[in-house]
Amino acid sequence: MKIIMLGAPGAGKGTQAKMIAEKFGVPHISTGDIFRANIKEGTELGIEAKKYMDQGLLVPDELTVKILLDRVAKEDCAGGYVLDGFPRTIPQAEVLDAALDKLNEKIDYAVNVDVPDENIVKRMSGRRACLKCGATFHIEHIPPKQEGICDSCGGELVLRDDDKQETVQNRLKVYHDQTQPLIDYYAKKGVLKSVDGTVEMQKVFQSISDIIK
Ligand code: AMP
Repeated sequence: MKIIMLGAPGAGKGTQAKMIAEKFGVPHISTGDIFRANIKEGTELGIEAKKYMDQGLLVPDELTVKILLDRVAKEDCAGGYVLDGFPRTIPQAEVLDAALDKLNEKIDYAVNVDVPDENIVKRMSGRRACLKCGATFHIEHIPPKQEGICDSCGGELVLRDDDKQETVQNRLKVYHDQTQPLIDYYAKKGVLKSVDGTVEMQKVFQSISDIIK
């Protein structure tokens, strides 16, 4: 089962992606997480990616595509995967399709978690991420058990640089310009499924579960 999650930054696609991955027993692959891990480790890729991420811009396709293709070629992806945050541009989608074509494989579903911009800005300012393990919370919707402390690893929770208001506005612009066209792209391929992402997290998950059998 190969699933792509689409949606604006902050639409909740990461949370849903993790839940789907768990349900189907396939890896959850987030290019954002891979970049953040590289930033933390101070790798060359991390240093390069950070320049773009801090401004709310996309990391160039050449860098992003390579790390994604390397990741999906790993053994644990043989039974499928849930992609969260990739593709984000039409060229990225085309490269992925070409790689899958060679293997006689295809994407089964592109799930679009639909949330209007005004909700996004409100949501992102309440988001908190763990400095240590990357888990995300929300001060209203998914509060940690103890304020400022990660439930999973006890690390410190912070407002990520790329969730700050000015960066969020940039990310939304970038989303509309470069990522939204993917909705049409996957609709034309007949694999697009849209769900209302404004409702409660469990309800969003139920709608997705009804679609993916
Ligand atoms: P995310 O955690 O998915 O919201 O990603 C955080 C940031 O990482 C984005 O704002 C981009 O700067 C970068 N990023 C993640 N995935 C991609 C991608 N597929 N293409 C380009 N940049 C990406």
